[in-house]
Amino acid sequence: MANKPEKIVKTDEAWRAELSPEQFQILRKHGTERAFTGTHWDSHDDAKYVCAGCGNVLFSSDDKYDSGSGWPSFSQPTGAEAVETGADRSFGMERNEVHCSRCDGHLGHVFPDGPEPTGLRYCINSAAIDKKPK
Ligand code: FE
Repeated sequence: MANKPEKIVKTDEAWRAELSPEQFQILRKHGTERAFTGTHWDSHDDAKYVCAGCGNVLFSSDDKYDSGSGWPSFSQPTGAEAVETGADRSFGMERNEVHCSRCDGHLGHVFPDGPEPTGLRYCINSAAIDKKPK
């Protein structure tokens, strides 16, 4: 499709060389940071949030809200092409995993308990995203 960014594909070794250990564990190994420990859950600046792996613009402060979860929470991505979702049946739960559409880096999960108008909560690991000026 014309609007889809071209995929970035790298080996684990290449990713490990450019990411912090925590970023690598979350983005490449589907890890999760502990709630209330990340750098962005309580951020309220006017900002955009990009993929910590590849710089793809993913979320905006316009859609960020305080879910009380201890993870950065957004009601939607910046565009339909920014992220992709897939089924995640690990840990005996039925969840929808969210990843960057460009590098496939794991970001977090999406839950159907968010605010209107989308009703969605994109629950994202701070370590998976970098905050940038708009
Ligand atoms: Fe990415």
